[in-house]
Amino acid sequence: MRIDKYLANMNVGSRKEVHSILKQGVVTVNGEVVTVPKKQVKETDEIAVNGNEITYKKYHYFLLNKPRGIISATEDRSQRTVISLLKTKDRYQNIAPVGRLDKDTTGLLLLTNDGPLAHELLAPNKHVAKVYQAQIAGVADQKTVEKFAQGLILGDGTKLKSAKLKILEQDQDNNLSRIEIEIQEGKYHQIKRMFGAVGMKVLELDRISMGKLRLPADLKRGEYKEIGLAEIK
Ligand code: URA
Repeated sequence: MRIDKYLANMNVGSRKEVHSILKQGVVTVNGEVVTVPKKQVKETDEIAVNGNEITYKKYHYFLLNKPRGIISATEDRSQRTVISLLKTKDRYQNIAPVGRLDKDTTGLLLLTNDGPLAHELLAPNKHVAKVYQAQIAGVADQKTVEKFAQGLILGDGTKLKSAKLKILEQDQDNNLSRIEIEIQEGKYHQIKRMFGAVGMKVLELDRISMGKLRLPADLKRGEYKEIGLAEIK
């Protein structure tokens, strides 16, 4: 890779800024000053700017608090995507959401350019737990909890694994419930279809965790933060 691309990829600056930094003679590759933007470097080279070593980071992980009205896609002609919420400097090549949340679902979504990790997190046999909180039209009770625990059968015959349902609030007068649910699968519209199967409707859905990842309390809707691989594993 060219040194100017490498430094731009590591967010040292834009390509133009990197060219001016190179001209200043403050960039070294394995101890030698380099001023030429097209100088080829490898990930294993020791690269420093003003004596500060720049560690090559191939993969980036962003924890996003997804707002409503945004689609979990990388590109779309007419609708805003989760990628559009990232600052331009963070829109790394191949960065994509790990799985999908519906347009009207809010909460935790991991974005990364680490394809193998995304694959691993979504693999059905890895059983990565996802926890959601939801506002439901209908009064969920102990019977609903048991049905979810036994493994629901959806309208199209899909047999689901056991899911942990917790009732947080019941409002008999207004026929509403607030619940928390933990599922191990990630089927299309799964939570909405699960409540549909017991004659209830999801009014609001918010994901609060995925595996070990939890939304930090101070991360507002539409905001994101970069995290390390260790936090995910
Ligand atoms: N289940 C749903 O129905 N929608 C989501 O966005 C996520 C899980």
